[in-house]
Amino acid sequence: MVDIIVIGAGVSGCAIARELSRKKAEILVIEKDEDVCCGTTKANSAIVHAGYDAANGSLMAKLNVQGSQMMPALAEELDVHFRRNGSLVVMLDEDDRPELVKLYENGVANGVEGLRIVERDELVELEPNVSDEAVAALYAPTGGIVCPFGLTYALAENAAKNGAKFRFNTKVTGFEKIDGGWKVITDQGDFEAKVVVNAAGVHADELHNMVSDDKMTIIPRRGDYFLLDRTTEGFVKHTVFQLPGKFGKGVLITPTVHGNTLVGPTAIDIEDKDGTATTQMGLDEVRAKSGLAVKNLPLRQTITSFAGLRAHDVRHEFAIGEVKPGFVDCAGIESPGLSSAPAIGVMVADIVTGILSLEDDPTFDGKRKGILDPKTLSREEYAELIKKEPAYGTVICRCETITEGEIIDAIKRVPGAKSLDGVKRRTRAGMGRCQGGFCSPRVMEILGRELGLEQNQITKAGPGSELIVGINKDTV
Ligand SMILES: Cc1cc2nc3c(=O)[nH]c(=O)nc-3n(C[C@H](O)[C@H](O)[C@H](O)COP(=O)(O)OP(=O)(O)OC[C@H]3O[C@@H](n4cnc5c(N)ncnc54)[C@H](O)[C@@H]3O)c2cc1C
Repeated sequence: MVDIIVIGAGVSGCAIARELSRKKAEILVIEKDEDVCCGTTKANSAIVHAGYDAANGSLMAKLNVQGSQMMPALAEELDVHFRRNGSLVVMLDEDDRPELVKLYENGVANGVEGLRIVERDELVELEPNVSDEAVAALYAPTGGIVCPFGLTYALAENAAKNGAKFRFNTKVTGFEKIDGGWKVITDQGDFEAKVVVNAAGVHADELHNMVSDDKMTIIPRRGDYFLLDRTTEGFVKHTVFQLPGKFGKGVLITPTVHGNTLVGPTAIDIEDKDGTATTQMGLDEVRAKSGLAVKNLPLRQTITSFAGLRAHDVRHEFAIGEVKPGFVDCAGIESPGLSSAPAIGVMVADIVTGILSLEDDPTFDGKRKGILDPKTLSREEYAELIKKEPAYGTVICRCETITEGEIIDAIKRVPGAKSLDGVKRRTRAGMGRCQGGFCSPRVMEILGRELGLEQNQITKAGPGSELIVGINKDTV
C-alpha cells in the first residue's frame, strides 16, 4: 500500500504531487492517458489571471490570487516560461461603466494589487491596437501568461525527482474501502493507498460519485480558439479581454510566452467529455467576436485551431476537501485553475498531510532545469555545445528551430516524451507554421531510436494513434 494515489496528471494533480513530494511519503500518480498534460491543461488560454473576476469570498478567488502571487517564484524555481504582461478588460460603451467599476471593486476586495481603471488616452498608449470604440479599461498589472505545458511538465519532473512515481495508460474505474485506506481499481489492475486524491478534471464527478452520496455534476464547457503565427508577436502586449455588456461577452486576445497570439475562447456546454474537436459554429463565433476589443487583428495568420473543455461544476466553485475518510476531491477546477494550481497544490497537500500526519523530507530539492534552448546561447557558447553534443547542431523543426539535442532531452526526462505530441509540447517541435508537416517523420525516427520502437509503434498521442500501419509494399 502506498501512502497517496493522485488520480490525474494535469496541472492540478502534478502541483499536488510536487507539493506532497516535500514530505516523507510514497506517492503514485495514476493517469489514463499516455503522458502528463493530456487533459484540459493542454488546451486553455494560458493566462495567469490576476484574480479580479472570481466572486469575492469564494475559494476560487482566494486560490486564484494566491496562485498568481506564487507563480513568479515558482516559475523561476522550476525554469518555466512566465511573464507578467498585465491584462486589460476593455469597455466599449460608456453605459457599461457600472460593470467595469463592479469588477474593479471585486478585484480590490479579492486583494488584487495595482488594479486601476484607465481612460481611453492611456489605454491607447498601453495597447495601440485597441478598438476605436474602446472607452476605458480595467488594468491589472499583475496579470500574466505562462506555458501551461511547461509548467505541468516541470511540476511532474520535480515531483518525480523527489520520489513521486507516475503510471500512465491506466484508467481508474472504481474504488473499494479497505482497512486503512482505499483499493483503487483500474483497467491495469488494483492499487492500494492510504489516501486517494481525485484530480481527474472533467471526469472528477464520476470518481467522486463512486464514493459519495452527495452527487456532483461536471459539465464539459468547450472553448474554441485560433492560434496565430509568431509573425504576429507584439500585436497585443497585454491580455485583452472585452467587458461583458452591450456588445456581448466577447473573446480575449493574448500574446503567448512563445510569441504567438491566441484568440478565443467560446463557452459552449456539451455532453461528450472527450469532445475537444473544434466546430465551424464555434470558430465562426470566435471570428465574429475577435475584432470587437482590438482593430486590424491579423486572423489570416492562423496556423491552427483547437478546443479545450472546462470542468464546469454547476456550483461554479472549486470543490476541494476530504469527502470520505481518506478520499480527497480536487474537482470543479475550471478557469482560473491554471492560475490557481500552485495554491491548489499547497491546499490539497496540507489536507493530505493533516490526514496522514506526514513529516517533512529534508532531502526535498525544489529546483528543476528546463530543456536547454540553444537560441538562448551566444554563438561561442552554442559552438562549444555542438562540439560536446553534436545533436544540438542538427535542426529538426525548422519553423521553431528545435534541435535533435532538445528532442533527445525531452525523451530522456522523467516523465519523458513517448509520442509526437509529447515531444511537441515539451520542445515546440511541430508547434510552428507548418504544424509538424516537415519535422514529424524526423521526430518519429528519433523517438524510435531512443525508445527502441519500430516506426509502426510510434504514436501521435498514445495507444490507438499509431501514425503508420507498416512499411510501403510490405503487404504486397
Ligand atoms: C477554454 C479554456 C480556457 C481556460 N483558460 C484558462 C486560463 O487562461 N487561465 C487559467 O487559470 N485557467 C484556464 N482554464 C482552466 C484550466 O485549464 C484548468 O482549470 C486546468 O487545466 C485544470 O487542470 P486539472 O489538472 O484539474 O485537469 P486536467 O488537466 O483535465 O487533468 C485531469 C487529468 O485526469 C485524467 N483522468 C481523468 N479521469 C481519469 C481516470 N478515470 N483515471 C485516470 N486518470 C484520469 C485526465 O486524463 C487528465 O489528464 C481554461 C480552461 C479552458 C477549457
